[in-house]
Amino acid sequence: MKYPLHLLKLIDSLKRLPGVGTKSAERFAFEMISWDRSKLIEVAHIIQTTPDQLKHCHECGSLTDATLCTLCKPGSSRDNTLCIVAMQRDVFAIEATHGYSGLYHVLGALLSPLENIGPDQIDIERLKRRIAERQIREVIIALDSTLEGDTTSLYLKEIFEPLKLNVSRLAFGLPMGSSFDYVDGGTLARALSARATY
Ligand code: ZN
Repeated sequence: MKYPLHLLKLIDSLKRLPGVGTKSAERFAFEMISWDRSKLIEVAHIIQTTPDQLKHCHECGSLTDATLCTLCKPGSSRDNTLCIVAMQRDVFAIEATHGYSGLYHVLGALLSPLENIGPDQIDIERLKRRIAERQIREVIIALDSTLEGDTTSLYLKEIFEPLKLNVSRLAFGLPMGSSFDYVDGGTLARALSARATY
């Protein structure tokens, strides 16, 4: 017996989520079918109102319920250091370390000639404007260690050169708890060149 059409639609919708294949989507769909009506409506309402309720901070591009996020709001006691990240979730990942007390700037994408993502898509003018307005003296580039992350970092470094900023990039090296046996040559070479004083 085939699945009813609406169940197929539900499974297909769930499969749009990253990492969810047919088997997982089927499991989620059958779980949802077992929920009572009010629970389904509650979850559907949260999903439906997401575009209106979750906004991008007008300053840094991070996720917020208001026009400005809590870090960019007037009166916020953050340092005048700017940490540049690719995506909104990166802000939360760095905040969770409790090791940074400055501001953020979300690019929203990484430069990728293959995917036709150029400097216009990451709005460099907005970034330069913020650096001037906030009198930023130090910038931390916190982008992926990938071809796109490296390309974007190099591009930003060139942009920042005339601005006389103190620019650094997150260190690359051995993952915590890793053994040499499991580290590839590229990672090891980067860890060697970016070694820190001990
Ligand atoms: Zn913000």
